[in-house]
Amino acid sequence: DAIERDGEELISTHCCFCGMQCGMNIRVRKEDQSVLGVEPRYDFPMNGGRLCPKGVAAYRQAEHQERILHPLIRKNGELVQATWDEAMDLIVSKIQEIQEKHGKDAFGIYSGSSMTNEKCYLMGKFARIGLGTKNIDYNGRYCMSSASVGFNQSLGIDRGSTNPWSDIKFADVLLIAGSNTAECHPLSMPYIWGARDRGAKLIVVDPRQTKTALVADVHLNLRPGTDVALANGLLHVMIKEDLVDQDFIQNHTTGFEELKQLVQSYTPAKVSEITGVDANKIVTAARIFGQAKNGFALFARGVEQHATGTDAVSSYTNLCLVTGKVGRKGSGIATFTGQGNGQGGREHGQKTDQLPGFRKITDPKAREYIAGVWGVDESEIPGPGLSAFEMLKALGTEIKGLLLVCSNPIVSSPSVRDVGEYLKSLDFFVCMDMFLSESAELADVVLPSTVWVEDDGTTTNVEGRVLRLKGIDRTPGESKRDWKVICEIAERLGRGQYFQFNSPEEIFNELREASKGGIADYYGITYDKLDKMQGVFWPCPTEESEGTPRLFEDLKFNFPDGKARILAFEYKGPNEKTSKEYPVILTTGRVVFHYLSGNQTRRIETLRGFCPDPYVEIHPKLAEKYKVSNGETVKVTSPRGSIELVAKITKITREDMVFVPYHWGKSLAINHLTNPALEPKSKIPEFKVCAVKLEKVETT
Ligand code: SF4
Repeated sequence: DAIERDGEELISTHCCFCGMQCGMNIRVRKEDQSVLGVEPRYDFPMNGGRLCPKGVAAYRQAEHQERILHPLIRKNGELVQATWDEAMDLIVSKIQEIQEKHGKDAFGIYSGSSMTNEKCYLMGKFARIGLGTKNIDYNGRYCMSSASVGFNQSLGIDRGSTNPWSDIKFADVLLIAGSNTAECHPLSMPYIWGARDRGAKLIVVDPRQTKTALVADVHLNLRPGTDVALANGLLHVMIKEDLVDQDFIQNHTTGFEELKQLVQSYTPAKVSEITGVDANKIVTAARIFGQAKNGFALFARGVEQHATGTDAVSSYTNLCLVTGKVGRKGSGIATFTGQGNGQGGREHGQKTDQLPGFRKITDPKAREYIAGVWGVDESEIPGPGLSAFEMLKALGTEIKGLLLVCSNPIVSSPSVRDVGEYLKSLDFFVCMDMFLSESAELADVVLPSTVWVEDDGTTTNVEGRVLRLKGIDRTPGESKRDWKVICEIAERLGRGQYFQFNSPEEIFNELREASKGGIADYYGITYDKLDKMQGVFWPCPTEESEGTPRLFEDLKFNFPDGKARILAFEYKGPNEKTSKEYPVILTTGRVVFHYLSGNQTRRIETLRGFCPDPYVEIHPKLAEKYKVSNGETVKVTSPRGSIELVAKITKITREDMVFVPYHWGKSLAINHLTNPALEPKSKIPEFKVCAVKLEKVETT
């Protein structure tokens, strides 16, 4: 399949570093299959020949000298090289020992969303009928789960975007909330420029004047955690000034009267007091959004990672529902998926409460159907178990053994000092990774995984478009493909009959069957079809279907009565409030040069060079109060811990808060400070707000 050119092969794949999944060709030296570089793909419509700094550098992981190339086993406190047989014998004997002593659920799986759909599917199946444990969840719980619940409760379906990205340029208004798109999803910006070129207005809701907010027509710089109040304020103005679509509301929604009543008290003055946003700006933004014929509400983790994150997602979704901005070119709702396969990762059954095809694990019909696909009795499917952070908290008590795949929870979880203690309290801890992450350093066994450019399979991007990745045909050193390792463990556990796969395509074909008739229906998507098209949008229920790029064109929402749910929520505020002792708000986020816990990007010299260390952004007025100058060291302390950071004095942040990027571990992990309070429905931790105090560190 590869194109050949001057002794090189060009392998067509997609970038691993965000949900855009930009198309790229990996340049491989033909004679030894070594990776030489990368070229953007001009034929893939999402990026059309562009890549951002992370995309350009991503290939550098492949030949990285720190890659783990052999299995490692802890002996006398040190991780030392071992053979696959030694490692597998130990893993299988420990699983059996723990499960015999403490029950099946005492062995858990903490999985990831930066893996192919095939691996995500396999992990869910392996947990339930390979290990027989109910305790599997994944790191997407930390990033996409509030959007998932919010979309399901408002629209009846959880696809990250109701529309293809190409629809964005036909909008007359774009409201982007809690997303620094320019840094976190850089190649979405050309779509936003496209809309601006056609005269669209841009409203950005963000506590910081990010690079995205800098180009906004209206920047609503709200206090972190006040999104529900702000959305209610915008709805108040739109309803009061009759900027809503009565016909759409009447025929295609329920719940408008409750919302109308609830938002009556959310006057611009009151909302200004809660959010800190100028009341006139709230009115202006509401008028722009309400008067526009077509528009999008787009949001991300800034809205979702809160103890009221699902309320906020539905509240912003209300903006489009009351104005009828859905189901056509230029009008829709979307969340920016953070992880490479953030969308696919949540569809195929590795969430503790789900089975493949977005089926609920508690639904008897879903259980019966999936049991049929897997060839087991329905009673053999355990679950639901614990969600990601709940699972970490249960390590050492309810859960004695853990398989960690493609995740680094000791950097990415809230209150990470505790997470380190939880991991250390395990009887047995096995980790699959390509680098020795901060979490892998604590494992009893580390298995060397392949890097994404060596992965064959599919992912699903921010639009709900399923894509084909073609892996380089190599496994450096003694590294092995994760899916083969999982099948081998199942074999050794005596469950091999359920894991007779010879290729990712065979796994995908079973995934198609498992998803058939579900919400995320992949049945009509084949490798052959993906090879011929530039990806296929789910749902794609038949082999004749070409997929569904735009949802709700018929204005039928995924509820029995076909109507979308307008849901009204009172503003409750963050779980942790500022106090006399902790008077400043801390919020966290990404920078363009790094990805998630930084396990991959901190090792890439070019990216590390641009942003080697974390820092704390402080407004000049707040800095003056603490007598801190640019470049000086500041101790930031929350009720859970302290870290010392270099001060970056800047007007882009609000005066009542500080911002710290979260891509670093150990003593530089800002998640030492963050609040582990969970959103009750989605179980996402409240990463985006906690209360801190600042102290200048005197250096001699
Ligand atoms: Fe990769 Fe995202 Fe950058 Fe595209 S925008 S190159 S997918 S990190």
